Amino acid sequence: MTVFDRLFADSTLSQLQQKDARDPLAHKRASFLLPEGVVYLDGNSLGALPLTVPARLARVAEEEWGGQLIRSWTANAEAAQDWMNLPDRVAAKIAPLIGAQPHEVAVGDSTSVNIFKLLAAALHMAPPERRVILTDADNFPTDLYMAQGLNALLGEKYELRPVPGAELEANLTGDVALTLLTEVDYRTGHRLDMAGLTAKAHRHGILTIWDLAHSAGAFPVDLNGAGADFAVGCGYKFLNGGPGAPSFLFVAGRHQDSARAFLSGWMGHADPFEMARDFTPAPGARRYVVGTPTVLSLSALDAALDVFADVDMNVLRAKSLSLTDTFIELMEPLTAQYPLELVTPRNHDERGSQVSYRHPQAREVMQKLIESGVLGDYRTPDILRFGFTPLYHSHADVWRAVQGIKRVLENEVLEEGERT
Ligand SMILES: *Cc1c(COP(=O)(O)O)cnc(C)c1O
Repeated sequence: MTVFDRLFADSTLSQLQQKDARDPLAHKRASFLLPEGVVYLDGNSLGALPLTVPARLARVAEEEWGGQLIRSWTANAEAAQDWMNLPDRVAAKIAPLIGAQPHEVAVGDSTSVNIFKLLAAALHMAPPERRVILTDADNFPTDLYMAQGLNALLGEKYELRPVPGAELEANLTGDVALTLLTEVDYRTGHRLDMAGLTAKAHRHGILTIWDLAHSAGAFPVDLNGAGADFAVGCGYKFLNGGPGAPSFLFVAGRHQDSARAFLSGWMGHADPFEMARDFTPAPGARRYVVGTPTVLSLSALDAALDVFADVDMNVLRAKSLSLTDTFIELMEPLTAQYPLELVTPRNHDERGSQVSYRHPQAREVMQKLIESGVLGDYRTPDILRFGFTPLYHSHADVWRAVQGIKRVLENEVLEEGERT
């Protein structure tokens, strides 16, 4: 680093620190356990640990499971501490984060399984002559795989039609039964216009399923404002529910009488302990809870969601954009110098809370970055992905991350020079 570089860097850092001093969410960092010496830019893959979670897990294990045993399923229902209604309480905490009513949300199972439930419900509702499931060619693999599996079960009645994101709108045609789209692309961070595409789909009589894996907890989501039909989302990314946390699904209130829960398990029954021979669905989205709730992981997610209780999601979004703008700006000298290509849109409306770059040695670069304490991730074929979590990142973290990336790129070039 030259003297001038250092002067510039220091004045940049102090400007960023001034921004941090005015950050209304700065105090939230103290709600998370984050290891020293690490800039964690992978909360979009596994959210960091909220400090409320370990104590809650200990209480559930020692007191509720160890002490109360089977009684915990129904004990303390008045105090909202029974296990039976835990999925509904977690759903009620997620609902305001996604612009939904509590009875429109169900929590349990993985995102993959919930995609299956919604695909089955939506295909059953769509007019039988509509035979196309329209999806983004770059959609997350599990979304595509679940559609392929269900279609096989249905005798390959449908055509899964993957098209490039830019061609989605032109493909909203009369033969399409439903769209299966992820709002924010997991590789590029490109964000689709959920409200606009939903409205256009509806004009053609098409149902919509939105995957909110990189949306929920990352910025304000307004499913009902967008007129969405169905949605799923992930509990362990921006919602910080822990590895393999239960996911959520959304069924718009207007569809709840016509949408059917085909994975009709006893915990989605209106009265599970009636032990009736036939399935009568519980009211609202609770019918999509299939089997016995996973109390330990639901409890972790429940405690984790409390971090959001007093967060204005518009403030969170403003900070997210400030962090990602800062990152893109600080990375500019590096993109000029190295074979780095920004693949995330600069336009605020077209991105989520991650920034990605292409680099021909992305895998190796990310490996070195992780070794140096800047934790992002690599995605095939050549993507460096950095997730920003406004609850625990500062602008100074962004600066530190870019310094780390700069060092790694400098060394990479050196090594390449040595090789030739
Ligand atoms: C992370 C992610 C999933 C995860 O599905 P799981 O069943 O929880 O493994 C699904 N869809 C998208 C778009 C994702 O990014």
